[in-house]
Amino acid sequence: MNYQIVIGLEVHIELSTKSKIFCGCTTEFGGEPNTHVCPVCSGMPGVLPVLNKKVVDFAIRAGLATNCEITRYNKFDRKNYFYPDLPKAYQVSQLYLPICRNGKVEIEVNGEKKFIGIHEIHMEEDAGKLVHDPWDDCTLVDYNRCGVPLLEIVSEPDFRSADEVIAYLTKLRETMMYLGVSDCKMQEGSMRADVNISVMPMGSTKFGTRTEMKNMNSFKAIYKAINYEAQRQIELLEAGGSVVQETRRWDDNKDASFAMRSKEDAHDYRYFPEPDLLPIEISEEWINATVENMPELPEDKRRRYMTEFSLSEYDASVITSERQIAYLFEDATKICGKPKEVCNYIMGELMRLMSETATLAEEVEMSPQKIADIIELVSQGKINRSVAKEVFEAVFRDDVDPAKYVEENNLIMVDDSSLVEEIVEKVIAENPKSIEDLRAGKAKARGFIVGQTMRALKGKANPQTVNEIIDEKLSKIL
Ligand code: ADP
Ligand code: MG
Ligand code: ZN
Repeated sequence: MNYQIVIGLEVHIELSTKSKIFCGCTTEFGGEPNTHVCPVCSGMPGVLPVLNKKVVDFAIRAGLATNCEITRYNKFDRKNYFYPDLPKAYQVSQLYLPICRNGKVEIEVNGEKKFIGIHEIHMEEDAGKLVHDPWDDCTLVDYNRCGVPLLEIVSEPDFRSADEVIAYLTKLRETMMYLGVSDCKMQEGSMRADVNISVMPMGSTKFGTRTEMKNMNSFKAIYKAINYEAQRQIELLEAGGSVVQETRRWDDNKDASFAMRSKEDAHDYRYFPEPDLLPIEISEEWINATVENMPELPEDKRRRYMTEFSLSEYDASVITSERQIAYLFEDATKICGKPKEVCNYIMGELMRLMSETATLAEEVEMSPQKIADIIELVSQGKINRSVAKEVFEAVFRDDVDPAKYVEENNLIMVDDSSLVEEIVEKVIAENPKSIEDLRAGKAKARGFIVGQTMRALKGKANPQTVNEIIDEKLSKIL
C-alpha cells in the first residue's frame, strides 16, 4: 500500500533581546554556568516577574511577517511540570490566548508553491540546561538559559514531505533573522524544532497517530529523521501493528529514533492562568508602530533587486539569502551606483573568501565604502580587474584602505604603450616556438603571449592595451 506522510512542526526561536523575559539578566549565550542568573529566573520563592516589552514587540513582528492575526487581549499561563533544569517547576507560556493565531507561510518546492498554516505563535520562557559529566558520572545544571525569551511557532499538520519541511524552516529562519528578532543559530540552539510525524494510506483524510521528535537543531538531521520515522511507522502498520503516540529521540550517530516516553496531553500539565502577570492588551497604535518599523523582508527585497537593479532571479536570491550580505550590497550600491558590479564582487570574491575562511555572514567586517572604492578604482582605470580582486581580498582579510594599498604595493594600472610595446617585442623574441605554432594555425599560442606579457608587467597592465599591441605586432610578422 502507498502511504502519505503528514508532518507538523513546533519551532522554538530564542529572541535576541538584551535581557531575559521576566528579569534583567543577560540573554547572552554561554558564560560561566549559573552566572547569568538572579532570584527571579532561578525560581526563588517570593519573587515576581516583570514582562520585557521587547518580547511582545518581537512576537508582534513575527506574527505580522507570518500573516497571523494578533490577539489584542492575550495572557500567560503556567505549564506545570518538574524537571531539574526548570527550578520553578512550571514554565510560563501561553495556552488559552496566544499572541498570534491563524497565520500562513508560503513555501516553494520544485517550482510548486503552497501555504503552510500557522496555528499559533506564543511567547514563553526557556529552561536551563543539564550537563552530563560522564567522567564523574553525574549531572550538573546550568540555569543561564532559564528565562531567555522564546517564541514557539506551531504549524498546522500541512507538510507532506521532508523537502517541504526544509523549505519552510529555511524561509522561517531567513524571515526571523531579517526581522532581527533572533539570530537563529541552530548550533547554539536558538532555533530548534519539534517534529511531529504520522502516516496514513494515500487518499485517506483521517490522520494517523503521530510521534514527536523534540529539540532537533540541524536541517540534515531533521531530513533524515523524517524519512526514517515515516518508514518505521509504515513498516509497523504493514506488519499489522499500530503506532503509539510517544516522544522519540533521534540519534544522529545511529541514524535511528528511539522511544523516550509516552506523550503527555495538555491536561497532564495542569495549565492555569499565570497569576503573577497581567494580561497584555495590544492597541491599534502599538500594531501600527510595529508595522512602520518592520524591516523589508527577503522576498520583497528579492523582487525589488530584480526590478530596481535588474539583477537576475538567481543573483537576487543569493544576495538576499543572508541579511548582512543584502545590506552590504545595498549600502555599497548606494555609494557607487553600480549594482551589477557590487553583486559580482559579492557573489564572486566575497562568497569565495567567506567559504575559504569559514566566515559567517554576521562576521564579515567589510565596509560598503571600501567595496565602492575598489569599484571606483577600476572604473577610473586606476587598476585592472585582477588587481581589484587582490585588493578586495586584502580588504576582506586585513581591512586595508583600497587606494593606499594600491599605492603602497605599486599596483596602479600600466597603460604606457611604449612600455607595453617593449615588453611584447621581448616576449615575441623569446618565444619563437609560439610564433611557429601561430603560423601553423594553433590559435591557443596567442594566449601564451598575452600571459607572458601580463606576467612581465606584474599583472598590472591594461588588458585592452596589451591585446591591441599584441595584435598589431603579430599582424606584422605572421
Ligand atoms: P502538543 O504537541 O503540544 O500536544 P498539538 O497537539 O497542538 O500540541 O500538536 C503539535 C503539533 O503536532 C502541531 O504542529 C500539529 O501540526 C502537529 N500534529 C498534530 N496532529 C498530527 C498528526 N496526526 N500528524 C502529524 N502532525 C500532527
Ligand atoms: Mg509538542
Ligand atoms: Zn534573572
